[in-house]
Formats: sequence, structure tokens, C-alpha cells
Amino acid sequence: MAEEKALTPRSEDFSAWYNGVVQRGELAGYTPVRGCMVIRPHGYAIWEMMQAALDAKFKNTGHQNAYFPLFIPESFLKKEAEHVEGFAPEAAVVTHGGGKQLEEPLVVRPTSEAIIWPIMGTWIQSHRDLPLLINQWANVVRWEMRTRPFLRTLEFLWQEGHTAHATEAEAEAEARLILGLYRDFMEEWMAMPPLTGKKAEWDKFAGAVRTYALEALMQNNWALQAGTSHNLGQNFARAFNVKYQTEAGEHDYVWGTSWGVTTRLVGGLVMTHSDDVGLVLPPKLAPIQVVIVPIYKSDDQHADVLEAAERIGEQLKGLARVKLDDRDTLSPGAKYYEWETKGVPIRVEIGPRDLAKRQAMLVRRFAPDGATRKTAVSEDELATRLPDFLDEMQDQMLEAATRRREENSYRGISDYEEFKEIIAATGGFIYTGYCGTEACELKVKDDTKATIRVIPDEDFRSDAPPAKCICGERAVYEAVWARAY
Ligand SMILES: [Zn+2]
Repeated sequence: MAEEKALTPRSEDFSAWYNGVVQRGELAGYTPVRGCMVIRPHGYAIWEMMQAALDAKFKNTGHQNAYFPLFIPESFLKKEAEHVEGFAPEAAVVTHGGGKQLEEPLVVRPTSEAIIWPIMGTWIQSHRDLPLLINQWANVVRWEMRTRPFLRTLEFLWQEGHTAHATEAEAEAEARLILGLYRDFMEEWMAMPPLTGKKAEWDKFAGAVRTYALEALMQNNWALQAGTSHNLGQNFARAFNVKYQTEAGEHDYVWGTSWGVTTRLVGGLVMTHSDDVGLVLPPKLAPIQVVIVPIYKSDDQHADVLEAAERIGEQLKGLARVKLDDRDTLSPGAKYYEWETKGVPIRVEIGPRDLAKRQAMLVRRFAPDGATRKTAVSEDELATRLPDFLDEMQDQMLEAATRRREENSYRGISDYEEFKEIIAATGGFIYTGYCGTEACELKVKDDTKATIRVIPDEDFRSDAPPAKCICGERAVYEAVWARAY
């Protein structure tokens, strides 16, 4: 077997490193279709676990899954003026079917408000039908020009929530509930701590009254928008004439929300935790949590070691997702390398010397700076200690990512020169006072490529934000800036 070339280190070329981790980790690959990736089994298994965790959270909060058409009649997309303006430029449109030109072109959904609202409208008559809490797991298509595996592809997978409510306050509460739910998921499962907040007026979803977003800081100090939750007000209800009878017997438009996260999260997971060896996965989202590698030289060792490895595998089976790598075509070193590049959190090594001591060597894929990665554990204690190892690693990964985010957050910045220096030197989340105008953001973007990621929620606001914007005008609120994907 040819010696594989090492990954490009993060410090040298972050983008090349990312592509290398994705390829080497067998998460995704390129296809003959421009801008469309294949999600390989290892990558898809991670997505399935993300789906399962999110789906449980949606259902626990009263949402139901449904499935709506892939195609949207073009005239439907045009009903909400801002919505069509936002999505038409990247729409894929079907003009022919069955060898004939269609009477009306069909848009391949870039998002489904324009097909879900007219259908939900037929389900809603009175206040007793509200709230209507629907989620869809689906693929969508946006005709992107520059694509990258998971981060931006023509077709991607996501979930989209669509809800209708009797009051504005309920719709707002729903949009906020989902924002919190996403945050919990990203922290608990992905060990990726996002900032939450509101998008600037000109940066909200096309057709929304208010857009909330989650922004996570990647290891190159660029932000990744990891999810959004929109309060749609009555915009779509008006566009699609969705009214309900109130308790008082009057008719009023319903209030809506929509919200989504995508396979982009897999890219976020990669860029939050992985290292120069390859993928690093938090235990909760690792398709394989423990790999057992038997080490032997002679044939008689082989039988004994393999027997012990099988015994350990049996012991751990119900406690974690375990794989015994008993291939005799690969050296232990080659196996270590392969499972490291695939991000398996714990490797259990067992060789003749371990066997003699009735122990195994546990090797962590992730350890905090300076901590030891290897621990000898007696065979009797393996089963009781393994869950703690996994839990501890999950916690340590969130701690490390949170620490990295805070170490790369700059608060109280009001001097534009200082702002530019930070962007040029390191990047990160920069908290400034902000005058609230689009012109100001555009100038900063022009100069530095940094944009406003969010107007931060209370949890993230500075104690004493600057009174002045970086443009020198009076600040009306605090904003968090970064370069972003
Ligand atoms: Zn300004």
C-alpha cells in the first residue's frame, strides 16, 4: 500500500485541510454533478444521529413530521414579493416533463413556504386548529455558484419547521423556543457552542419579520451560520390567504414561523473539533465510539489476543457503539491511523502484555491540552469506566470549544483601526457598538470582508458595550462581527 500523504495542516491552508478531513474521513465526496456531493456512509451515519436527536426534541415540543412536494408551481413562489426576490436568483426550474413543455414551470423547492402555506391553509379553519406545528425532513436545491462539501452545495438535506399560530406573541415564542432548542442540540450533542441573536434587518430571511440565528466560531476564526429561526409575522398568511376564526368569531390571518438546520452542521462539526490528523468526533455523534484493535505477532498470540478482544467487545456492546477491527490484512498502526482519521473517540488496544496483566489500553482521540491520551484499564473495570470516559470526553470537547471561542472573542471594540487589526491578525468574534445602518456594515464589509453575524441575545451581550459605533456614530445596540462562510 502506498504511503498516504499527510493532511495539509490547519495553519497552512484551512480550506485544503477541511477538504482533506472530509475526504480522508470518508464523510463525503465529489460526483459527476457540478456542486452536488455524495454523502458517504460514515458522513450519513453522523447526519442520521443528528436527525434522531433533533427529531426527538421537535416531537417533545409538540411538532409533527409531514412531507410536501418537491416542486412548487412558479406562480406560488411569486406570491410573497420579498420571498421570490430572495430565492428566484438561485432557483432550479423544471420546464419540461414527459417530453412536453409544461404549462407552468415548476420550481424545485429552495425552501418550502410557498408550497406548505397554501396546503396548511386548507387545514386551518378555527382557533381550535392552532397552533399547527409541522416539520419536514427533506432535500432542497439552491443554484449556488461556488460550492464546498457540506458547507454549500446545490442540493442539501435539512429539516424545515413551519408553524401557524393564533397570536403574534405565540409565533415569537415559537421562533425563540426553536432557537433555544437548536442551541441545546449544538452544545449537548455537537459540543459546538454557538452565539445566538437576531439578524440585522437587511440580512433576514426573505419574507420574515425577524430572523434569529446561531453562529459558531470555526477553528480558523470564521463564523458559520449553523441554523436560523424566523418569525414570519402574517406575511405568508396574507400572501396565501390563510385565515382562522377567532374565539370571538372574527376572521384573522394566522401568524407564522419557519426554521431549519442542514447538513452544513456536519461541516461545522468538522471545523470545530478536527485536528491535523483528521476527524475528531464528539462521542454522542460518533457512529463508532469505540474500536478494539488486537495486537499480535505470532500465530499463537493471535488466537489468545483475538479471544480477549472478542470478550471485551461483548462486555462493551450494550454500553457503546463498538467495533472490533479483526482484519488480519492491516498492521495495528495502519488501523490506528484509519480510525483516527475517521474520528473514533476511543481506541482499545489489547496485546500479549496487556493480556498477561488482564488489562487493555484506552486511547482517547481527543484530550485537553497537556492531558494524557492513554490509560491502562483492567479488564474487570472496562465496562464500568467506559461510559465515564465517553461522557468526560464529550464535556471536555464542549469546554475546549467554548474556551477557544471566548479566547477569540474581542469585546468593547469601538476603534475602527483596532477592529481592522484584529480582522487582519487573527479574526474571531468582534463585539462592537453599532449605529444600526446598512451603509456602515457595507463599508466595513468592503474594507475587511467581516459582516455582522448577530445582534447578540442577552446571554452573550457585553456588560458595558461601547457607546459609539466603529464608524464613530452613536451606537444603538451591540453587534458581533466576523468573517463568515
Ligand atoms: Zn456605524
